[in-house]
Amino acid sequence: MARLLRYIKPFAPMVAAVIILVFLQSLADLNLPTLMADIVNEGIAAGDSNFIWRTGAIMLTVALGGAACAVVSGYLSARISAGFGRDLRSRVFAHVESFSLHEFDRIGTASLITRTTNDITQIQMVVLVMLRMVVMAPMMCVGGIVMAVIRNGRLSLVFAGALPVLSVIIAAAITRGIPLFDAMQKKIDRLNLVVRESLTGFLVIRAFNRSDSEAARFDEANRDLTNTAIRVNRILAGLMPVTMLVMNLTTIAIIWAGSRFVDAGSLQVGDMMAFIQYAMQIMWSLVMVSSIFVMLPRASASANRVNEVLNSVPGIMDADNPETAGTVNGRLEFRDVTFRYPGAEEPALNGISFEANPGEVTAITGKTGSGKSTLVNLIPRFYDVDDGDILLGGVDIRRMKQEDLRARIGMVPQKAVLFTGTIADNIRFGKEDASDGEVRRAAEIAQAVEFVDEMEDGFDSAIARGGTNVSGGQKQRLSIARALVRRPDIYVFDDSFSALDFKTDSRLRAGLKAETRGATVLIVAQRVSTIADADRIIVLDEGRVVGNGRHKDLMRTCDVYRQIVSSQLSEEEIA
Ligand code: ADP
Ligand code: MG
Repeated sequence: MARLLRYIKPFAPMVAAVIILVFLQSLADLNLPTLMADIVNEGIAAGDSNFIWRTGAIMLTVALGGAACAVVSGYLSARISAGFGRDLRSRVFAHVESFSLHEFDRIGTASLITRTTNDITQIQMVVLVMLRMVVMAPMMCVGGIVMAVIRNGRLSLVFAGALPVLSVIIAAAITRGIPLFDAMQKKIDRLNLVVRESLTGFLVIRAFNRSDSEAARFDEANRDLTNTAIRVNRILAGLMPVTMLVMNLTTIAIIWAGSRFVDAGSLQVGDMMAFIQYAMQIMWSLVMVSSIFVMLPRASASANRVNEVLNSVPGIMDADNPETAGTVNGRLEFRDVTFRYPGAEEPALNGISFEANPGEVTAITGKTGSGKSTLVNLIPRFYDVDDGDILLGGVDIRRMKQEDLRARIGMVPQKAVLFTGTIADNIRFGKEDASDGEVRRAAEIAQAVEFVDEMEDGFDSAIARGGTNVSGGQKQRLSIARALVRRPDIYVFDDSFSALDFKTDSRLRAGLKAETRGATVLIVAQRVSTIADADRIIVLDEGRVVGNGRHKDLMRTCDVYRQIVSSQLSEEEIA
C-alpha cells in the first residue's frame, strides 16, 4: 500500500489543501456545541435577546464555513483519488504491455483484468476515505474529549464506560470482516475467469450443448462471491444498529447523570446539551476510524495484487547496449536452439539448427504439436531461448532492441486476430502511414481484394469485435495483408494458408513470390502443395529437426516427410 501511495505525489498541493480544509471543518464542528451552550446558558437564561442574535449569527457563520470547507474538500479529494486511480491504471497497463508471454501465463489474463480494474478501484476508494478521515477522526475524537472534559469533568466519566464498549464492538467486527474481504477479491478473480472462458468459448459450449454445465459453473462462482459479500455486509450492517444503541444509551446516561448535576446546581442545561453533542462526535469519529479499518485490509490485499504486477520484471528485456540493426540483412540462423515452456517436462524444441536466407522460401513442416509455432514465436522474442542462439543478419536477436527486431518482421500468427475498426485500419496495423494504394496492393497480393470489394463499403467496411463478421479464411487473408503492407525483411507465415482453398493458396503464393523478392520468407504449413516448391524444407518431429532440404531430396531421405506426403497424396489427387 505504502509503495503505491507514491503515485499520489503529483497531487501533493491538492492533498495539502484537503488537509487544511478538513482541519477547518473539524474546528467548526467542534465549536458549534459550545456556541449553542452559550446561547442556552447566557442568552436564554438571562433573557438577553441581543446576545442570542449575535451568537446565533456567529453560529450560522461557523456552520456555513464548515459546510463550505466540507464541500470543497470533498470535491478535491474526489479529484485526487480519481486522478490517482487513473495514473495507477495507466502505469499497470503500460507495464503489462512490456510483459513477455511468460508473465501472461503466470498471472493469467482474467486476473490481470481484475487487477487493473477492480483492485485499483479498491485502493482508490481507500485513498478517498483516508483523505477525509485521517485528519477528521482523530481531531474530532481528541478535540471532543477535551471540550467535554472542559465542560464537565465528572460527567465525562460516562465515556469511561461507553468508549471501551464501542471499541470492543468495532474490533470484533473488523477481525471477523478482514478474512472475508481477502477472500472476496479471489472470488472476483474466479468469477472473471469463468465469464471470460464462457464468453470466448461460447460457440464450442453451444455446439456441445454444454450451456447448462457452463451456467452451473457460473452460478457456483457467482453464488460463492455473493455469499461472502452477504456475510461481510451482515457484519457491517450489524455494526450500525449496535453502535447506534451504544450511542443512545450513552445519551441516556448523560441525561440521567446530567439532570442530577443540574438539579444540584453544578451543571447548566446548555452545558449538558453541548456535552451530548460532543459524545456523539467522539463516537462517530470512532465509527469513521472503524470504516477505515474495514476498508484497509481489502485495499491492502488489492495493493499487493497490483504490486505483484508492477514488480514482475518482464522476462524479456532489451540489452543494455543494443546493437543497431540498421545495416544487417534478413538472414536468419538458428544455432542449436533449445526451448522449454515453463513447467513443461520435455523441451518443446531441442537442438534446432538451420538457416533461412534472403531471397529464399524456407518451409517448416511437421505433425501437429511438433513445435512449429513455438519455433516461429521465438523469432520476434515472444519467448527467449533456453539454450543456443538465434541470429538475424549475424546479430544475436537478444542484442537488438525488441522494437527494431519486430519492425523487421512481418508476422502472420496461427490464430488470425483482427481488431475493431475498418478493414483498412486493420491492414494499416502493419504500417501506420501506409497509403491507400499500398493498402490495396497488400490486399491484392493477399487475395483479399475480391471479397473486400464485394463488401458494401469496401476497405471502409467495419470489422466487428473479434472479427466475427468475416470468415476464418478471410480473416487469414486480412492478417496476411497486414504483414505484407509492412514490407519487412522477414516474413513469417504460421499456418496462414490452411484455411484457403488450393487455388487461392497457389495464387497467393505466386503473388508473394514477386512481393517478397529479396526477403527471407518462413512458411509454416502442413499441406504439401504449399511447401513443395520451397527452397528449403525443415521437417520437425517432437521438437527436433529430422529433415532439411528440398522436396525431392526429402522424399528420398526423410521418413517423417514421406509419411506426411503420402498421407496427403490421395487428398491432393482429388483436388
Ligand atoms: P505446432 O505449431 O507444431 O502444432 P506448437 O509449437 O504449438 O506445435 O506446440 C509444441 C508443443 O509445445 C506442444 O506439445 C504443446 O503442447 C506445447 N506448448 C505449446 N504452447 C505452449 C504453452 N504456452 N505452454 C506450454 N506448452 C505449450
Ligand atoms: Mg502451430
